[in-house]
Amino acid sequence: MTDSFGRIHTNLRISVTDRCNLRCFYCMPAENVRFLPRRELLSFEEITRFVECMVRRCGVEKVRLTGGEPLVRQDVHRLVQQLNAIPRLKQIGLTTNGILLAQQAEQLYNAGLRRINISLDTLDREKFRQYTRRDNLDQVLSGIKAARRIGFPFLKVNAVAIQGMTEDELVSLGHFARQSGIEVRFIEYMPLDADQNWDREKVLFTEKMIQILSDEICPLQPESSPQKNSPSQGYEFVDGKGKIGFISSVSKPFCSECNRFRLTAEGKIRNCLFSLEETDVRDLLRSECDEDLLIDRVLQCISAKKKGHEINSASFLQPERPMYSIGG
Ligand code: SAM
Ligand code: SF4
Repeated sequence: MTDSFGRIHTNLRISVTDRCNLRCFYCMPAENVRFLPRRELLSFEEITRFVECMVRRCGVEKVRLTGGEPLVRQDVHRLVQQLNAIPRLKQIGLTTNGILLAQQAEQLYNAGLRRINISLDTLDREKFRQYTRRDNLDQVLSGIKAARRIGFPFLKVNAVAIQGMTEDELVSLGHFARQSGIEVRFIEYMPLDADQNWDREKVLFTEKMIQILSDEICPLQPESSPQKNSPSQGYEFVDGKGKIGFISSVSKPFCSECNRFRLTAEGKIRNCLFSLEETDVRDLLRSECDEDLLIDRVLQCISAKKKGHEINSASFLQPERPMYSIGG
């Protein structure tokens, strides 16, 4: 699935719900959230049918389940199990806020999941309450512990990098990475917040984070064997203890290398987080449609992908759908 700039799309992110048990200020509004009615959501069977077709006919190799909060969707391990049975699908990942992870980690592991990214912006309970508008830090930490105990080989922690907030979290999260052996990745704040309060001035840039971590903990250097096709630039502390990743979506966009597309919880294909258009495939998945028709529609959407997201240009328009509703 190649777009008009020659980018090959092998990486599909799937939102399984727009519901969430947190209200992170950079993603969701504080209240009055209108969630999709349940009947609008793709069923696990519809999602599996879509992925199976994309893998067999279109070269998709990796999928990641996200949301909203994927673990609030009942029995999401059943979906993992169905996806895990698809021949030639190389990777299944899940991105979660971790609150329900302690309860579900074992089921997810048994269903075949090995890769979990847990979002955690702070290790301080009061700040956690401030950022997420909920008091659930302990559950998230228990989720991480459970995932480690069960033996998930690929665990990462993600934190959003915001000026005036993340400076204070860098050192404790840096030490957490060193002590736990879990890579912590900082994601530059993107204009996808429901309250539309994003401003370039509010982004804490990678360069500054590297400087703070290097000054306060130990110098960082680019990792010796960087991951291919990852939006994250990996660094390691020069004393060999701990890995930090930076996703520099604003200061160093990786659009020219982007191999991702998205399926929203109600069955729309998006060729970019920031696209203003989307393509419905739910009607096709709910009918006994010809597979070629489905592929044609996805291909049309991918071919229309723009060269880049243009966050840094004056003409940038923030999409109406915030992160939780697209599937981050
Ligand atoms: N609820 C799950 C979670 O928080 O991990 C999955 C969905 S969440 C939308 C996926 C990721 O998007 C999280 O790591 C979150 O921190 C990140 N995110 C949300 N809003 C963001 C924003 N405005 N800029 C950058 N990252 C954001
Ligand atoms: Fe929920 Fe994840 Fe958005 Fe936080 S970032 S509000 S946990 S969807």
